[in-house]
Amino acid sequence: MEKMILRMPDYCSEFKCIADKCRDNCCIGWEIDIDKKSEEYYLSCDGEFGNKLRNNIQKGKPGCFILGEKERCPFLNKKNLCEIIINLGEDKLCHICSEHPRYYEWYNGVKEGGTGLCCEESARIIISRDKPFSYIESETCDDSNEEYDENLYKCLFSARNKIINHLQNRGYTFFERINDVLMYAENLQYQTDNGEYTVPDIIHSAEIRKTDIKKFLEFLCTLEMLDPNREKYLRSCILLSDKTAKTEEKFKNKYPETELYLENVAVYFIWRHFLKGVFSEEFYSAVFFTALSCEVIRFLSVCCYHEDGKFDITDFIRIAKDYSKETEYSEKNMSVLLDEAYNNNYFLL
Ligand code: SF4
Repeated sequence: MEKMILRMPDYCSEFKCIADKCRDNCCIGWEIDIDKKSEEYYLSCDGEFGNKLRNNIQKGKPGCFILGEKERCPFLNKKNLCEIIINLGEDKLCHICSEHPRYYEWYNGVKEGGTGLCCEESARIIISRDKPFSYIESETCDDSNEEYDENLYKCLFSARNKIINHLQNRGYTFFERINDVLMYAENLQYQTDNGEYTVPDIIHSAEIRKTDIKKFLEFLCTLEMLDPNREKYLRSCILLSDKTAKTEEKFKNKYPETELYLENVAVYFIWRHFLKGVFSEEFYSAVFFTALSCEVIRFLSVCCYHEDGKFDITDFIRIAKDYSKETEYSEKNMSVLLDEAYNNNYFLL
């Protein structure tokens, strides 16, 4: 293992799982793989709890916990507390359980990550911030593996800083900012495809592209769904899209703080997905994904207000978290969504 820099957003240190207070516990509905070292330890445990461990682990490569009724982890007790922590201690959690909702990416000499939007508490921390984004570097030991062009890395690292700064420039509306970075990324992609790695500044554009939200929601309905009720929900929002014109204006005036929530979500998506473009040499799609995702989350927020007559940050957190779970946490969906970046049908000039 080599010494590396660990680079994480400053808010990650605030994260602590809220366990039994969580309304969408990650120990329900997800397959939980067990790393080899933890599996060996679990299978060697004595007594009644050791027997429970042995009876609830399905051996395989990797092994996993055998989910119970409603896809609950067999070690999640009636109070929604983890029996592995209670009986063996927090340090005995398997790798996935101890790391979730943290995510990482490995570059040369740098391990970069954050906490994901799929977790209710992490989403609350990300969305409720009112400080400019910043990250902290510390030292860690790990291995970097994939090869990439160092010049492209430097270019994308610098471009990402510019994009994040522009997304936080409140001199423009959020809609203008996201529009600017979308066009910027399109031009930068064209430029790097032609071997030019200088990083221009972001220019505010007078050209505004509106999203065809109905079309994009129809597309989302064709994806793999984690929640069996998701398609029905999305279709009900598609039906609402013809009726929400008046509500949109009212929503904008009544809940101006939504702009800040969207800004935080956009910065999160860019931080998490943009720099990965060094591996595929393709990064415009990450900005496309950010722009459309923010528009979907905004529109679903309007629908929530249209239906309930009220709205607050808890609704926004739920909507953003569910969206993240259904897209970012399905490799298949993410790959289909990124490919869609080259289908220009979603933007109307
Ligand atoms: S989703 Fe987040 S807060 Fe909820 S149980 Fe999982 S890690 Fe804890």
